[in-house]
Amino acid sequence: MSSAPFWRAFVDFFLPPKCPFCEDLTDSFFSGRPCPSCLSRIKFFSPPRCPRCGIGFPSPSEQDHLCSGCLSGEPPFAKARSLCPYEGLIAEIISRFKFGGVASLAKPLGILLAEYQDPEFPFSGIDLLIPVPLHTRRLRERGFNQSLLLAREVSRRRSIPLNFTALRRSRQTQPQTHLSGPQRQKNVRGAFEVRSAAGLVEKRVLLIDDVFTTGATVQECAKALLDAGAKSVDVLTLARVA
Ligand SMILES: [Zn+2]
Ligand SMILES: [Zn+2]
Repeated sequence: MSSAPFWRAFVDFFLPPKCPFCEDLTDSFFSGRPCPSCLSRIKFFSPPRCPRCGIGFPSPSEQDHLCSGCLSGEPPFAKARSLCPYEGLIAEIISRFKFGGVASLAKPLGILLAEYQDPEFPFSGIDLLIPVPLHTRRLRERGFNQSLLLAREVSRRRSIPLNFTALRRSRQTQPQTHLSGPQRQKNVRGAFEVRSAAGLVEKRVLLIDDVFTTGATVQECAKALLDAGAKSVDVLTLARVA
């Protein structure tokens, strides 16, 4: 008989397991996952969607097809996917993580990313994970790069190498939140540069970020990585602004 249940009961007694999102008691202490009630409050995306940028379509009877944005101008990344819309519980948790400085939320959020399942977006096709970098000044203010913490969790769980030094934000940009689409593009244009291309050549890269807003940021990152010789760039984010 395994002694694991005994130790589990022992640890649970002294450290009652809590859901990392709602802090209610749960039995998911060892997994670090959110509790079933919190998971049920997250509206995960499902088809139909744009096969390129991943945006969802409202009518469930539609087939997957390119969205008007991807038809009018192909994005530089090969495919982008987000787990869920940026709303409700997930928006609240991301805000607590990023702006409230609760770095421990990287684990449950990173688990959600690492467990993302989509046959058209397999982790097996990825050579390298790269988090969207923060400018040094923003990094100093926040104390951590939320995308790096998420990517680290995905790297650990999916056994994919992580490179957080190759790509750099060379210019401080304004927060994208209150800018229009064209303003966002202008704001981040040329804001990223590759420091060292050596490890990128012919690599299939997965860019990791917390929120996909208009895609302007990840498009600029993808351009810089492709210019440096990356074979392809895909994008995975937790949430997408509707
Ligand atoms: Zn919960
Ligand atoms: Zn699209």
